[in-house]
Amino acid sequence: VTGRTEPIKRVLLAKPRGYCAGVDRAVQTVEHALDHYGAPVYVRKQIVHNLHVVRSLEARGAVFVEETDEVPMGSIVVFSAHGVAPEVHAEAAARNLKAIDATCPLVTKVHNEARRFAAEDYDIVLIGHEGHEEVVGTTGEAPDHIKLVDGPADAAKVQVRDPDKVVWLSQTTLSVDETMQTVEALRQRYPNLQSPPSDDICYATQNRQAAVKAIAAQVDLFLVVGSANSSNSVRMVEVARTAGARAAYLVDNAAAIDEEWLTGVGTVGLSSGASVPEVLVSEVASWLAERGYGDLQEVNHTEERLTFALPQELRRDLRLSA
Ligand code: SF4
Repeated sequence: VTGRTEPIKRVLLAKPRGYCAGVDRAVQTVEHALDHYGAPVYVRKQIVHNLHVVRSLEARGAVFVEETDEVPMGSIVVFSAHGVAPEVHAEAAARNLKAIDATCPLVTKVHNEARRFAAEDYDIVLIGHEGHEEVVGTTGEAPDHIKLVDGPADAAKVQVRDPDKVVWLSQTTLSVDETMQTVEALRQRYPNLQSPPSDDICYATQNRQAAVKAIAAQVDLFLVVGSANSSNSVRMVEVARTAGARAAYLVDNAAAIDEEWLTGVGTVGLSSGASVPEVLVSEVASWLAERGYGDLQEVNHTEERLTFALPQELRRDLRLSA
């Protein structure tokens, strides 16, 4: 007898998790467009950063492209939740495309801020990840005024024209804590740095991170369901680790879990990024239950009630045909 006892096995399921209002609206936009106009409906970029969602919509007749010039003249194109630069709207118009813009209204809000501060000739420090679609779209609103800063280390290097006329804005899906560190580093250099009129990191990103943080310290293994190109999902894994989870991994689905990770694990934390359908979380929960982790407890951090209306151009067409 070794005296070793098996840990008590359980799962703490974070809430809120999964679909946010912007993702829900974007997915519904493509579904309604398919129903209303018929296939094919072209979608520029992944409508949301989740492979399962993209494959399901493809099966219904959506055709995903990288750029507008791949869409046949006169077709219907949906722009993804992450937003597009104004030049993409112009390209679509030049190709006589019917464009439906599924940009999340909370991303549009950041675009509007960028335009406004650029019109007032501010230098805009945009905190975000280089190359991310949202950052590309926002930068396109005011390319001559925006400087990208990707984390606290970058803040030391950025150059502006007038240190007293600088504002920071951010990508919507960043780590709340790391962004505040970046802002602090910027403020050291520019004491008169202006903040955005309201939070750019969206409610869904903040709530999902807070829900992870609330349980991470009790957890031996944290599983976040999400795709590797989903910024908010990747941030949730980082938050879990920083907040005390012994280990944390991003998994696309149950098949991506390595059974070895369960060795010696008592409590598993489970959540999902804002672009992840609940069915993928249920599959992970079942996978865990089959391995002795059937005791599942949902830990509710915040209730979310926000929803967004479908894009205006789509609503108009749906109304006309009703
Ligand atoms: Fe909108 Fe936030 Fe969802 Fe992105 S994560 S689609 S900004 S609500």
